[in-house]
Amino acid sequence: MDKYGMIREILKKSTYTVAMCGTDMMKESGMQSMRAPEISYKVEREYGYSPEEIFSSVFYTNRTETFFKYYKREMLEPTLEPSEGFAALAELERKGQLQYSITNNVYDLPERAGCKKVLNLHGTIFDNECPRCGKKYPMEYIRDSKKIPLCEKCQIPVRPKVMLFGEQVDNQLMTRAVNEISKADVLLLLGTNFNSGLCDRYVQYFEGSNLILINSQEHFRDENANIILREEVKTALPKIVRGEEKEV
Ligand SMILES: [Zn+2]
Repeated sequence: MDKYGMIREILKKSTYTVAMCGTDMMKESGMQSMRAPEISYKVEREYGYSPEEIFSSVFYTNRTETFFKYYKREMLEPTLEPSEGFAALAELERKGQLQYSITNNVYDLPERAGCKKVLNLHGTIFDNECPRCGKKYPMEYIRDSKKIPLCEKCQIPVRPKVMLFGEQVDNQLMTRAVNEISKADVLLLLGTNFNSGLCDRYVQYFEGSNLILINSQEHFRDENANIILREEVKTALPKIVRGEEKEV
């Protein structure tokens, strides 16, 4: 049996499967990494600060207008579409072979592909709230605002509920992630590696039987996985879920 078939069988037999979707799955959906040198350079030239400086809680508080200029233009205007990898994930959930997806992406990619049970550790761009009265605002309200998006009632900035540099993952979300992972019989690490922020904190709680890693990028700690598939998630996962192709 090839690796796709092996993983397919493991997923069929699993009593509880959890997937962690990492940054490489977002890149496969067209996201440009803030940390990529060419992006960093472009942003610094245009705004006078690096993406990491701008996308931080300190910057949000002190230079709110520049923050929103960057946030709207660089994060809300480019539209990302969920990759085939997310579509396969949703199919797996529909088949009853995936119980939960955990991600640090802020674009709702799993949900937009059709996943129902998703934990967004870093929040999402679609969740915006006035810190004073709690009124919710859609993403479009933020995107289409002239300068700083203000609460209609309180006239103070509406806060996108995405995690900024310098902030911690919400405690309740972290506890839920740990609960899900400790329940899992199979853990899928998709487009991420053992050294990533996403895995580093959570994989230690996994006590199940099979840890499966799918990522085209190699990492020296990957040998902790039971099965490794060196391929992009967007091509590998559909083959596993749909069972059409054989490994070459
Ligand atoms: Zn308000």
